[in-house]
Amino acid sequence: MKKTIAMLPGDGIGKEVMQGAQEVLSVIAEQYGHEFHFTSGLIGGSAIDQHSEPLPAETVELCRQADAVMLGAVGGPKWDQEPPAGRPEKGLLALRKELGLYANIRPVKAYECLSGRSPFKQSVLEGVDFVIVRELTGGLYFGKPSERSFKGGEESAVDTLYYTKKEVKRILNAAFELAAQRKKKVTSVDKANVLESSRMWRETAEEVKAEYPGIELEHMLVDNAAMQLIKNPAQFDVIVTENMFGDILSDEASVLTGSLGMLPSSSLSTGGLHLYEPVHGSAPDIAGENKANPLAMILSSAMLLRTSFGLREEADAVERAVQHVLDAGKRTGDLAVDQERSLTTAEMIEEVKEGLADDNAILHIMEAYA
Ligand code: NAD
Repeated sequence: MKKTIAMLPGDGIGKEVMQGAQEVLSVIAEQYGHEFHFTSGLIGGSAIDQHSEPLPAETVELCRQADAVMLGAVGGPKWDQEPPAGRPEKGLLALRKELGLYANIRPVKAYECLSGRSPFKQSVLEGVDFVIVRELTGGLYFGKPSERSFKGGEESAVDTLYYTKKEVKRILNAAFELAAQRKKKVTSVDKANVLESSRMWRETAEEVKAEYPGIELEHMLVDNAAMQLIKNPAQFDVIVTENMFGDILSDEASVLTGSLGMLPSSSLSTGGLHLYEPVHGSAPDIAGENKANPLAMILSSAMLLRTSFGLREEADAVERAVQHVLDAGKRTGDLAVDQERSLTTAEMIEEVKEGLADDNAILHIMEAYA
């Protein structure tokens, strides 16, 4: 299979972890006889430095020419003083709009071998395997007006939570489709006791449910959802929610996995050009120190192989290699109990590549004896 992948490393540790995804995808290409062509573009702070804007038109074009897009992370203190429209994060929001990336899929899996790293008891983590489906192109992060004003000598600010019914239906459909391939349960999270937008969301969820008779639907208020994620996270299968609720809940859910550095994601578009990125940010506190955990980015590349290219076997191989490395006790600093024995980013990438080589050798042996 011949494919082009646009790589947008972005800022901070984005560059370091992106290296891991590219190396792992190259190994997969070699092992399974594919040709992956990697192109590279600027976004976020690094684009501001070179082009004075967070999302240059040439980056959007580079993405449009590709079969899939990978993104590292954007932002950092260097650009915190930029005016709101020129901040690194605006580059990512604009790219989501440009590519029509409306559904962010965030799998949350508790690895048994990492339970020592989690502040939760093992009994709470048992069976945790769910997906957060976050709406990505509407809601509070895009609604207008979003501005400050000075009237009558008083400063005020407004943000707007706006959704069309069509947008809500689209994301709910994505969640039900996903649930149909999993444990057949959708938890729709809203704040319907207070927000009108949530009341429309809840009604729409009921309408969509009628199209999926085999799927259970429950509604949960976002404050309760925040509590249930900690109290009994194994109850969830697919959680679907609006943009800001999803942003917050998925960071909370990352604690279940032991580190933000373990959470991959995919962002799906209606047009079929999808984007894959870790849930974490640019981690300025450790950027450039070769300390970042590359596994969220590497697991995002597995999602790319499965979702964009339909390469299930290859995706499974990447996920098995990550599991193998963790089972063998290999840890970057964010996961390590004993910091002295923690791996650098580059060492962790090498471990996963070795894991892939071992996995491939085992598959060949099994084929030979089949
Ligand atoms: P962050 O995710 O960058 O970091 C939070 C904490 O987790 C830090 O202590 C960091 O060191 C740690 N961490 C994150 N990823 C890690 C990894 N792979 N390995 C090891 N440790 C990891 O969030 P933040 O500190 O709130 O934000 C920093 C910058 O990133 C800000 O400019 C923010 O706007 C931006 N950001 C970008 C994205 C994105 O690009 N999608 C997402 C979130 C935050």
